[in-house]
Amino acid sequence: MKIIFLGPPAVGKGTHAGKVAKGFGIPRISTGEMFREEAKAGTELGKKLNEYMEEGVLVPDEMVIEILRSRLGRDDCREGFILDGFPRTIEQAGALRNITATDLVVNMKASHETIIARISNRLTCRKCQAIYNTLFVKPKIEGVCDKCGGELYQREDQKPDIVKERLEVYERETAPLIDFYRDKGTLIDVSAEGDVEVVHKRITDAINEYIKGM
Ligand code: AMP
Repeated sequence: MKIIFLGPPAVGKGTHAGKVAKGFGIPRISTGEMFREEAKAGTELGKKLNEYMEEGVLVPDEMVIEILRSRLGRDDCREGFILDGFPRTIEQAGALRNITATDLVVNMKASHETIIARISNRLTCRKCQAIYNTLFVKPKIEGVCDKCGGELYQREDQKPDIVKERLEVYERETAPLIDFYRDKGTLIDVSAEGDVEVVHKRITDAINEYIKGM
């Protein structure tokens, strides 16, 4: 299966794309995570990527497309993949179509209030990038990652001014992809309101239903 997860920042794409990827035994590919790893490595490319990310704006299409093209060419993607955070523009969606066909787009939806509550209480692990939320998905020990013991921190792009910018960028650049994929008949809408397990069930039910009709 080749699935795209679409939705605004902090709607829960990373968490759910990861769970679904695990279920299918295929990789979850998050361009944001790849960029943060590159930034952590301190390369010239990483420094450049970090400037865009810290401002809350999109990395230019040409850069993202090349990085993604090379990632999708790796062996582990042969049986399929889940894309989390790509495509984010119509240009990227067009480029993806030239790289490979995809089966389905899961469009995660939540109210503005839910998004703001999730994003402003979000913590990320410095080491493995696992995501927590001080209200809904608390770590067992405050400030420490359950999975790897790494330190949890609030990303620069999760601070209020940058969140506002990212939401505007989403509406302007990425939301048009909803109609783009809906018109192609490959999009399913799933409500991301509620607990992780409830949302996960909604997503897997919707995917299974879609597969039955394929
Ligand atoms: P994410 O972790 O998916 O929220 O991504 C964090 C940041 O990485 C975004 O705010 C963008 O600056 C950048 N980024 C990630 N994916 C893309 C993409 N497909 N196109 C452009 N910029 C991206």
